[in-house]
Amino acid sequence: MAYEIRTWPDRILKQKMKEVDFFDERLKEYVDVMFERMYQLEGVGLAANQIGIPYQIIVIDTNTKKYDQQEGEEGVKMVLINPQIVKKEGEIESTEGCLSFPGVQITIPRAEKVVVKAKDIEGKDIEIEGENFLAVVLQHEIDHINGIPFINYLPPVKRRIVLDRYMKKKKELAKAK
Ligand SMILES: [Zn+2]
Repeated sequence: MAYEIRTWPDRILKQKMKEVDFFDERLKEYVDVMFERMYQLEGVGLAANQIGIPYQIIVIDTNTKKYDQQEGEEGVKMVLINPQIVKKEGEIESTEGCLSFPGVQITIPRAEKVVVKAKDIEGKDIEIEGENFLAVVLQHEIDHINGIPFINYLPPVKRRIVLDRYMKKKKELAKAK
């Protein structure tokens, strides 16, 4: 079961991932398999630990899913190594799902605009600016490699309800198999 999607409460989703210090064939293989899985699962973003790779790598392709694209707005495809949010601005309400929480969709607050510093696949320093949908995807995926699931942004009572429902459904599905 190499590189299967990990779902909550898998422990790897609760841990901060290691920094990448190898910019070689191995990294390219990780990135390739991440894109492959993300497209199979029809996600717009994927963090390495979601498929069991314990490093700070995220991939994004906002062309993979239809969303409220503004007129003239192009989708973007990117690989970010060791990404860090260095600036946040504004606040928006974001309705999100997560490949690691099948069936869960919640509305949480997110920054409207973020600036992210990272390395590219060659190890070169890059800076990305994201607004609205891209800002949300960046925040969601960067949280993953820091061990932060999106349910953390729900108030405690709401979080408990969502999690209880999710775990119940997960058990039922496991039984049905
Ligand atoms: Zn997610």
